[in-house]
Amino acid sequence: MKSVLFFLGLVGLALATTTLPKTYENYKVFRIPVENREHAEFLKKFEETPFVDFWTELRLGGNVDVMVGPGTQFTFEEMLTREGMSFSEMIPNLAPMLRAEKLAQDEHKRNKKVNANYNMDWVSYHDLFDFYEYFDYLEAHYEDISVETIGQSFEGRDLRVLKICRGGCGNKPAMFVDGGIHAREWIGPAVVTYMLNELTENLSAENNDLVEDLDWYFLPSVNPDGYYYTQASDRLWRKTRSDYGELCRGTDGNRNFGYQFATGGASNSPCSDTYHGPSAFSEVETQAVKGFVDANKDSIKFYNNIHSYGQLILTPWGYSEELVPDYDDIKSLADTCNDALYAVHQKSYEVGCIPCVLYTASGNSIDYMYGDAGIKYSYSIELRDEGSYGFVLPASEIIPTGEEIFAFHATAARLIVQENSQ
Ligand SMILES: [Zn+2]
Repeated sequence: MKSVLFFLGLVGLALATTTLPKTYENYKVFRIPVENREHAEFLKKFEETPFVDFWTELRLGGNVDVMVGPGTQFTFEEMLTREGMSFSEMIPNLAPMLRAEKLAQDEHKRNKKVNANYNMDWVSYHDLFDFYEYFDYLEAHYEDISVETIGQSFEGRDLRVLKICRGGCGNKPAMFVDGGIHAREWIGPAVVTYMLNELTENLSAENNDLVEDLDWYFLPSVNPDGYYYTQASDRLWRKTRSDYGELCRGTDGNRNFGYQFATGGASNSPCSDTYHGPSAFSEVETQAVKGFVDANKDSIKFYNNIHSYGQLILTPWGYSEELVPDYDDIKSLADTCNDALYAVHQKSYEVGCIPCVLYTASGNSIDYMYGDAGIKYSYSIELRDEGSYGFVLPASEIIPTGEEIFAFHATAARLIVQENSQ
């Protein structure tokens, strides 16, 4: 414990010496097997410090990936060794990976527009401007597409939901998919917009039933301030950018929802990456999602909260190890959809309730969707990969990930139509 306090004591020093944008020179990502509860409890203490950044959730019997800066690596390694824990270097130095990513993105940006109307494609990561320009184009060119601004972020950026409703919204079962609540998980917004494109610009005759029989709502960026910040200043920022006058900024939006808020698996320390915020729905971003869902909860039959990474399909509850009353149905639909996902590129994703697969996490969005809004089929997916690149997933993975995740949703949508027509 003394050593953990030593880590905490360095907080002020680190904040005072932070320069932007962060290069992450000599930052390492360690992969640590979590063999027993003692290991888990030992590692859990570091979640309160900004020196050990958890890239994945603690997972008993699995691995956890953590990023540690050059100044504290030696101490951290010593502490693990003293606890009898093993570890390996997943990424020996982050900086060259981030430089390569930025270079590729800048080069792509320098090329001329994809077409005359917008700059979106899925061979590069894009900024919010490109997303919204693409939305505007779709809204202007398709009769059954509209954009609803459901609120503004802390820094005043729009939260825009793209709605595909043939013959008007609200008369059919609806699918609601969001991404980017954790800013650094760039593959999330990329895959949400990929699916949107599959149902609009790239709609095939065989998928026509998906827009004929259902409404679709896409919110690619729940946390636009965070997303902007990851592109301008700190590629590995996770939280919102709210400021409560504390030492550290931001709240974990996925611990800020109001169902069983702050009942475990969330931190009350503003410097933690899993800080739940000062109160339930303190964040304007989660308020906006709540407002949208509350207004449409009768028609929304499926919800997916997209994250990365780890290749997991997670179900409620998150706050409790108890299984939800509809667990068998929820698991069975996920298994069927997972088969469709696997058939595309033979990538394995694991299905299970949050504490079954990871650790408890309260205040997450799917607990609210299931527990309060009554959306039975509520999921959270952790996209690719399994830890070679983590959050810095190469843009060449966007299309294959999009293809398998679209297969998952297409299968879910058809099963939901079936269930609702019975
Ligand atoms: Zn996440």
